[in-house]
Amino acid sequence: MNSIDTYDFKGKRAIIRVDFNVPLNENFEVTDDTRIRAAIPTIKKVLAGGGSVVLMSHLGRPKKNNDDKFSLKHIVSAIEKRLGEKVLFAGDCMGDKAAEMAKNLKPGEVLLLENLRFYAEEEGKPRGLADDASDEEKAAAKKAVKASQKDFTKRLASYADVYINDAFGTAHRAHASTALIAEYFPNDKMFGYVMENELKAIDGIMQNPQRPFCAIIGGSKVSTKISIIERLMEKVDSIIIGGGMTYTFAAAQGGKVGGSICEPDMFPVALEILKKAKEKGVQLVFSPDALCADAFSADANTQICPSNAIPDGWEGVDIAEEGKKIFHDHILGCKTILWNGPVGVFEIDKFATGSKAVAEAIVEATAKGAYSLIGGGDSVACINKFGFADKVSYVSTGGGALLEYMEGKELPGVAAIRGK
Ligand code: AMP
Repeated sequence: MNSIDTYDFKGKRAIIRVDFNVPLNENFEVTDDTRIRAAIPTIKKVLAGGGSVVLMSHLGRPKKNNDDKFSLKHIVSAIEKRLGEKVLFAGDCMGDKAAEMAKNLKPGEVLLLENLRFYAEEEGKPRGLADDASDEEKAAAKKAVKASQKDFTKRLASYADVYINDAFGTAHRAHASTALIAEYFPNDKMFGYVMENELKAIDGIMQNPQRPFCAIIGGSKVSTKISIIERLMEKVDSIIIGGGMTYTFAAAQGGKVGGSICEPDMFPVALEILKKAKEKGVQLVFSPDALCADAFSADANTQICPSNAIPDGWEGVDIAEEGKKIFHDHILGCKTILWNGPVGVFEIDKFATGSKAVAEAIVEATAKGAYSLIGGGDSVACINKFGFADKVSYVSTGGGALLEYMEGKELPGVAAIRGK
């Protein structure tokens, strides 16, 4: 496997799959350039080594070609600002102009291709099928897009001598630019620094964690977190369970949860998790009290109730004081901490104090020498909201990719570089 640190880029054109799926405001200005900043070291490394760069990314979920709203032209100046170099824009990711511009790139130059998802071939999923399309029609459309995906991928590959995957956020997808393209670079493919750092951080805690190792799993539903909880039970010493999931666990054990988010079909799963944890000696930590609201809004009335005795008409929206203290003390006793998912409805300030307390405890533990990894869209949003991103050990850029990697699944974008 090649390494970006030792590869000789002199005179080579590198095509880099980046994740520039950044938020834009109504004036098409980038409102958070974290993902652009993250990719800069990889781009600079190629340029410093005497190479040139072709950048490719998706942006949003366009359903057709040339949908101006999703054009990457909007982010050219944001890249230039962070890179300190001029960025050429191809206006398409296929077509003669893109090929010509890629061919003529000189060492030190950077070319950005247009949104890959303007083409159905990037994801390999058919588009524009009628709602009432028959199974045969669906199968034929899928076959057609898969067939043209080969040409699409080959075309992208023809723009460069080297392939670098630096888009961890899409590594769990077997798309043209994230996985399939690697086949055209059997001896010249590698991870960029974003990917390398992500894999190192996750492998580090999953393979060789300092103990005690605690995972804090929040969010809304058991159903979306079940696989990660099951996988983590093999690795951790304890799991703090917070967020909406709490009430499924409480109700499964006969508690009253009022109008809290609750998944009755997950009761057997919740009970099984409790049983397995006991068998494996994994401590499960719950908040005994809940901040309850009579509406899901900032002006709701609130009261504190036991998490398993919530009156009708009220729903648990956050942990309360006792839970904050228990979570804090538990976190401070750990040497490795993984946080995925807020422990309350953190988007509403009044219901964010539990998640803030968790974030503060993680910051405190990190300052005392613990290793902390924050991952999954909402916990990252949470840590950013409280301004603590630089006070924890590592903030992952991956949502689905992070969870799938932790669950032990092989990510197509990783396998394509490492080999099977
Ligand atoms: P997830 O994407 O599964 O990590 O879930 C994140 C979402 O869970 C956030 O939007 C939170 O508002 C939500 N959440 C956390 N706690 C609760 C709760 N007690 N009731 C409802 N939603 C919650």
